[in-house]
Amino acid sequence: MSTTVGFLGLGHMGGPMAANLVKAGHTVVGFDLAPAALEQAVKDGVTVADSAVEAVREVDVVITMLPSGKHVLGLYAEILPAAKPGTLFIDSSTIDVADARAAHDEAVEAGHRSVDAPVSGGVVGATAGTLAFMVGGTADDFESAKPLLDVMGKKVVHCGDPGNGQAAKICNNMILGVSMIAISEAFVLGEKLGLSNQALFDVASNASGQCWALTTNCPVPGPVPTSPANNDYQPGFAAALMDKDLGLAANALKTNGVEADLGLRAAELYSRFHAAGGGGQDFSAIINDIRERSTE
Ligand code: NAD
Repeated sequence: MSTTVGFLGLGHMGGPMAANLVKAGHTVVGFDLAPAALEQAVKDGVTVADSAVEAVREVDVVITMLPSGKHVLGLYAEILPAAKPGTLFIDSSTIDVADARAAHDEAVEAGHRSVDAPVSGGVVGATAGTLAFMVGGTADDFESAKPLLDVMGKKVVHCGDPGNGQAAKICNNMILGVSMIAISEAFVLGEKLGLSNQALFDVASNASGQCWALTTNCPVPGPVPTSPANNDYQPGFAAALMDKDLGLAANALKTNGVEADLGLRAAELYSRFHAAGGGGQDFSAIINDIRERSTE
């Protein structure tokens, strides 16, 4: 069934996601503040509106893919009153759990339905239509959103109540950030002890140190030829985005009084790496920061 979708935020992720909806036969009315994003959207078959408000007036579903919670809440204040009653709002941006819950409450108060549906898989997954969606919202709203999410992704998981999609995303990325730092520290220690990277990889990847940060995104060149370390640390998953996600995790840890030394420390280390100019590199490049800061 063809759906009419308003798509706001046609950047690195939103652009290809909207293009996949068009390819699947849906009508997409889009808006972005950046003229270059609008130009590309026209090429992808998106009907470009003059404003965000115009993009949502006549649609059944609104998808937002914006930089932060501030952007989502700001835009919701403009567009919720303009949309038809009962419109389904899907926010796929990565934002604070508290902001996601506030956005949901505002949408419902305005007479609409809403889910948070952040993603993992990056620009490659957005382009290929293979994103993973983590969804928070009622069972009915999840079922309504799923057919569209299935077009843009290959894995769609209902994580529970509103905000739980964001909760799942930051918990997963906190595991990833901490494990990448742990793997990187182990490689630097191994180097100091005269252990080759390959030998450590061969042992740890077949032992209890095994994890995605080691076996798929290995931070040293060599053992996993497809990992960004072999390509001058071109992302992959940029350190700036890991910094952002760990910042959201750190907020949630503090707000909820969780004793989490490693999660908070990982947020500090990625923030420092980003501030020192590493944000554009793959997040596995944190190993070079660890190596440089280690004494002779
Ligand atoms: P981006 O900066 O490329 O795109 C965001 C777009 O939103 C921009 O084009 C911007 O002009 C537009 N925008 C901002 N305010 C707007 C407004 N009021 N109205 C209309 N458009 C507006 O960012 P991105 O890489 O596409 O990321 C989007 C979201 O997805 C972020 O929350 C990010 O954390 C998350 N995310 C990104 C990746 C990734 O690999 N890039 C992976 C997973 C999740």
